[in-house]
Amino acid sequence: MSVFEHHEFDQHEKVLFCKDKSSGLQAIIAVHNTNLGPALGGCRMWHYADSSEALTDVLRLSKGMTYKAAMANLKLGGGKAVIIGNPHTDKTPAMMTAMGRFVNAAQGDYITAEDSGISIDDLNLMSEQSQYVAGIHSRYSFHGGHADGNPAPATAYGVFVGLKESVRYKLGTDLKGLKVAIQGLGHVGYRLAQQLKDEGAELIVTDIYEQQLKRAEAELGAIVVSPEEIVQQDVDVFAPCALGAVLNERTIPQLKCKVIAGAANNQLAKEEHGKLLVEAGILYAPDYVLNAGGIIDICHQNQEDSSAQALKTHLEGIALTLREIYTRADQEQLPTNRVSNLIAEERFGKSW
Ligand code: NAD
Repeated sequence: MSVFEHHEFDQHEKVLFCKDKSSGLQAIIAVHNTNLGPALGGCRMWHYADSSEALTDVLRLSKGMTYKAAMANLKLGGGKAVIIGNPHTDKTPAMMTAMGRFVNAAQGDYITAEDSGISIDDLNLMSEQSQYVAGIHSRYSFHGGHADGNPAPATAYGVFVGLKESVRYKLGTDLKGLKVAIQGLGHVGYRLAQQLKDEGAELIVTDIYEQQLKRAEAELGAIVVSPEEIVQQDVDVFAPCALGAVLNERTIPQLKCKVIAGAANNQLAKEEHGKLLVEAGILYAPDYVLNAGGIIDICHQNQEDSSAQALKTHLEGIALTLREIYTRADQEQLPTNRVSNLIAEERFGKSW
């Protein structure tokens, strides 16, 4: 399939392909927009069915990063990388080293970081080859503990404060006694679950890995359901924290929640699904606003003159941004995802 005619192509500045014979690396880098600064975005490794599915994902995700950086008040553009392969069985050190070399092909327009399926160790291997690797050093800890360069705790905290704000806006309550369904108990989802539990929420969870489910049952008293059942749960909040496109024609009619607030990127299969959620009376927290904690964290770690408090305040600003979106959405009678896009486009100066 041609890139320029691809349905997810949105005037991306660069799309680069790599098939490295010696390591077996198959990867794609997409730089969506650099009006506000170099494109920063994670590298995801996933067992895509084929390269076409990977291309669709990287085009969507990189565009999402442009909007995310703008809404998080960062001087950065949007980009993303995907590696085709199963992170549990296919990954090798040689592949990560080759990925580092591939990042250099974007000539500084793309800075890579952690995402699903990619660890700090993987990034360290990439950084041996490239200076355009972020998220491997840490200076500040927003929670007062040890900061290890992993952006997931900051992402989870941002989702948590944003979820709380969304509940306050829609339901006028705090989290005590509220039922929250979490799809995906990975780096972000599990940490979110812990914070929700600490605030008195009741958890209903799912994952495709048995081990995480057992842990959530034992540590958090969570109720476990199958991946197929999670969207139908009678809950106050649904938190998608696995993969994208979970909100679609099939799942939206099944939802019983009043708020959707989760970490996953590109939760809406199509933009118009935001309207379906409004019609269903569900408040949707735009994913890229809510899950910007990781990128905010990485930016602060790269600034010598920042501080733990500045980082925490920036993360908590996600709640203020959401309130601005919800208020304008009510005033202009528009879906929250549409309003968020409009504000982001005003900020990065969309001209097409
Ligand atoms: P992760 O890979 O650690 O966790 C994802 C979890 O979802 C895994 O436990 C996986 O088993 C589970 N999962 C996969 N398919 C599933 C399915 N069909 N049903 C139920 N569970 C399923 O990833 P993460 O770092 O926790 O990120 C989660 C989501 O948040 C991703 O969409 C990611 O792009 C997004 N995100 C992550 C960060 C971050 O800092 N890690 C930042 C922004 C956005």
